[in-house]
Amino acid sequence: MEGKLIIFSAPSGAGKTTIVRHLLSKHAEKISFSISASTRTARGGEVNGKDYYFISKGEFLHRIAKKEFIEFEEVYSGTFYGTLRSEVDRIWATGKHVIFDIDVEGGLHLKRKFADRALAVFVQPPSLGVLEQRLRGRDTDTEEKLRERIAKAEKELGYANRFDVILNNDDLSKACAEAEKLMLDFLSGEKN
Ligand code: ADP
Ligand code: 5GP
Repeated sequence: MEGKLIIFSAPSGAGKTTIVRHLLSKHAEKISFSISASTRTARGGEVNGKDYYFISKGEFLHRIAKKEFIEFEEVYSGTFYGTLRSEVDRIWATGKHVIFDIDVEGGLHLKRKFADRALAVFVQPPSLGVLEQRLRGRDTDTEEKLRERIAKAEKELGYANRFDVILNNDDLSKACAEAEKLMLDFLSGEKN
């Protein structure tokens, strides 16, 4: 079996983590989550080695130098996130496909690199205002971090049409059902 990549990208707060978790809960036999490395601190409830590999900036830079990343970004100023080559190989070796929750630049980077092996989905929030509400509702960021995320979101929304598919996330259960169909069609080799 050739391992594939299912990529979910969106501005922060659009709902990609929620959708990816839904897919993982239903299709754990087919897909596995690419655990990224990040230099940010863990949020309450997040587990090292499950949600992220939380590492120091020094270690991150060392791993960049050793060319251990397939892609990485300084997603927010001073905070790095990246996909380790070892992580993707580890998952493919188990016979599963890899699912990603990754920022817009990183998603496009992986799509360029893996072309037809990858399905790149852009999760579209109904509006910037709703995105802000969701971020505030999630209540995980300081006001300063929230502003940074919203400012970045405005630019990221302009990249939607570079993805294979745009998935509207207004009604969550509809978005989850649509995401599931897109993924299963792609994995079975049907065009979408
Ligand atoms: P992301 O991973 O893109 O940053 P999350 O999945 O963390 O986004 O979602 C941000 C917040 O919005 C979460 O609190 C989540 O429960 C909520 N959310 C996600 N999708 C919807 C939706 N369709 N309607 C309302 N709230 C949503
Ligand atoms: P958060 O801090 O909310 O978990 O993530 C912030 C942003 O970084 C999100 O858009 C998330 O998808 C993105 N991200 C997570 N892992 C990676 C990664 O490995 N590479 C890139 N480029 N972005 C990532």
